[in-house]
Amino acid sequence: MQRRNTAQRLRVLGAIEALGHTTSEELIAYMSKNNSNVSLATIYRSLSTMIEDGQVRKLKLGDSLIYELVKEKHYHFVCLGCKSIYDVKQNDAINIPKELKDFQVEDCDLTFFGYCKNCKKI
Ligand SMILES: [Zn+2]
Ligand SMILES: [Zn+2]
Repeated sequence: MQRRNTAQRLRVLGAIEALGHTTSEELIAYMSKNNSNVSLATIYRSLSTMIEDGQVRKLKLGDSLIYELVKEKHYHFVCLGCKSIYDVKQNDAINIPKELKDFQVEDCDLTFFGYCKNCKKI
């Protein structure tokens, strides 16, 4: 059953969409800057409901917990310089490691770490 989107939930959703990838701290800062008038408790409650409903996913990239909208499956690149997070299109199927050949693999998450175009050392 699809739960009703409350106005506050929609505001949290809109903020995540605007930020792309966000930590909860960034989300809270963004929402208070935009006078969203949504309490911390509501933000956290909305986040966990949206995760349950499959609208938002929470992922661990390096040391940070990131929230993003659920969209097409993709990988991430995390820049060690500016800390930007880039979405990476997933076009090739991953070779499943031999050790897993008798397993039923459902998902795979891949994160690349390095330096983006702007931070790359010449
Ligand atoms: Zn960078
Ligand atoms: Zn992403």
